[in-house]
Amino acid sequence: MIITIDGPAGSGKSTTAQGVAERLQFVYLDTGAMYRAVALGFLQADADVTVEAAQHVLPSIEVDVRYQADGRMQVVLNEEDVSEKIRTPEVGAVVSQISTLRPVRDRLVREQRRIGFEQEERHGGVILDGRDTGTVVFPEADLKVFMMADVDERARRRYQEYTEEGKDISLEAVRQEIRDRDQRDRNREIAPLRRADDAVSLDTTEKTIDEQIAFVVDRVKAHRKSGT
Ligand code: C5P
Repeated sequence: MIITIDGPAGSGKSTTAQGVAERLQFVYLDTGAMYRAVALGFLQADADVTVEAAQHVLPSIEVDVRYQADGRMQVVLNEEDVSEKIRTPEVGAVVSQISTLRPVRDRLVREQRRIGFEQEERHGGVILDGRDTGTVVFPEADLKVFMMADVDERARRRYQEYTEEGKDISLEAVRQEIRDRDQRDRNREIAPLRRADDAVSLDTTEKTIDEQIAFVVDRVKAHRKSGT
């Protein structure tokens, strides 16, 4: 079974997807982490954000994911676990520009489909989150969810994450980062962030994480019962 969760930054996708994966013993694939790893590769190569630069940088970049015994996903860039290094405001500032480039998207969509099918076969279920997982990566997914939340609430959540990790950034800067990223993700030419026609919507502004997880788990159960 393949489940997709798409939505803007800070809408609660990854916490929800991880919780659902844990409850149902599914594998979680964070597609944003893969875009962030490529963005880190660009930063390390000091490359411009152009298609030409991508054609130069991509062949020297290998992005993969690994799973730990407890199911936690690690993202690997050229054999190095970069799961922490990709969660910085610097990567956050460039990732949505790099993810507008067609060679980057083509490469990662191909990888995400490969990983998705492989893990589905091995574990019976995969839950992906991102911006285009229900529209482009797995348009044939069994269940699609589109999550959203008020921008102030999303900024507050991301600010709290950064603060807990000891990162020095103001709430206003986080709000601006989220606004800029949303704007680029929604308006880009290739695979823009949008709700798939057959996705169920979930507004998480006033929801707890447990409620969000229960919402998705209930729908998975209903889907299984209906046998479709
Ligand atoms: O999910 P996260 O916020 O970590 O994603 C970082 C960025 O990666 C997004 O703002 C978006 O530009 C890009 N992305 C994408 N398509 C996806 C997942 C993420 O373009 N499926």
